[in-house]
Amino acid sequence: MRIIDLRSDTVTKPTSAMRQAMANAEVGDDVYGDDPSVNRLQDMAAERFGFDAALFTSSGTQANLLALMSHCDRGDEYICGQQAHNYKFEGGGAAVLGSIQPQPLANQADGTIALNEIVQAIKPDDIHFAQTRLLSLENTIGGKVLPMEYLAQAQELAFNHRLKIHLDGARVANAAVAKSVDIADICQYFDSVSICLSKGLCAPVGSILLGDERLIAKAKRWRKMLGGAMRQAGVLASAAQLALEQQVERLAEDHHHAQLLATLLNEMDEFSVDMSQVQTNMVFATLDDKFVPEQLVRSLKAKGVLINSGQTMRFVTHADINEADIHQFIAVLKSCLSVQ
Ligand SMILES: *Cc1c(COP(=O)(O)O)cnc(C)c1O
Repeated sequence: MRIIDLRSDTVTKPTSAMRQAMANAEVGDDVYGDDPSVNRLQDMAAERFGFDAALFTSSGTQANLLALMSHCDRGDEYICGQQAHNYKFEGGGAAVLGSIQPQPLANQADGTIALNEIVQAIKPDDIHFAQTRLLSLENTIGGKVLPMEYLAQAQELAFNHRLKIHLDGARVANAAVAKSVDIADICQYFDSVSICLSKGLCAPVGSILLGDERLIAKAKRWRKMLGGAMRQAGVLASAAQLALEQQVERLAEDHHHAQLLATLLNEMDEFSVDMSQVQTNMVFATLDDKFVPEQLVRSLKAKGVLINSGQTMRFVTHADINEADIHQFIAVLKSCLSVQ
């Protein structure tokens, strides 16, 4: 049975080209700086995205943590959205491991944080307060793309208030494809950017952190301390290289499939979708409260379809979902709902 897995783009498997590259990868001990495949990936990413340096990390969570710990010292603070992955979904790592305090602020409907609220949240230089060091944004956030003018304004705000500015760009490639701009056009507004290669871009493992030489040197030290320095990591980096070289443009198909899925769900009486929020590869659909989400999840699973639970459900399109899968999913969904 072909499984249709709409839970996340993290479920993508490496492509056959990636498996080939992994089998043939030139490797060395990356802790000695000797892995040619890791070095090639880092050099290529730094150059392509407009930074001095890059660091290959085991996950997006690790790349964000390294960025936070490299920008902020113990007792410092970073401003982020209430919905930010590096506040809400990373186990409180910045606080636990970095002694860094988050200052979360509301995300507006478009995913931005109001600039005036950021300004008001920056702490004055006073012994009562943590020192605000960093503004951290996320793009895409909940599948939404931050406006380019907002990025420029946020950069200016950070500069004027002597903050550094970080982008959790786990899905920045989706943002770039949706805006028809280069990833570097988005990265230019930030002091550091983390990018996941293991989501829509199909690498099996890994993220990249971008920044200047000083930041990346610090991040490398923290990565070692956190147990994230890997040895013959070129086996992974060689697949990650292909993620950047071969998978970015393909994301447009995922966005197209998300539009199709959202439209079909919205046509059903049982679901409603705010189409203005469907901008990349994610669809948030609210199930009529006559239905029990867990029950629907179970009956779909029995028919080979995997989805997340919740009255508002998140569906994610990716490389292993094609147009026929979307139609098949809708057909199975209708049959499951008709017997609930
Ligand atoms: C997935 C994700 C991360 C973390 O990536 P992992 O590789 O799962 O640790 C960070 N930020 C955002 C926005 C994400 O979607």
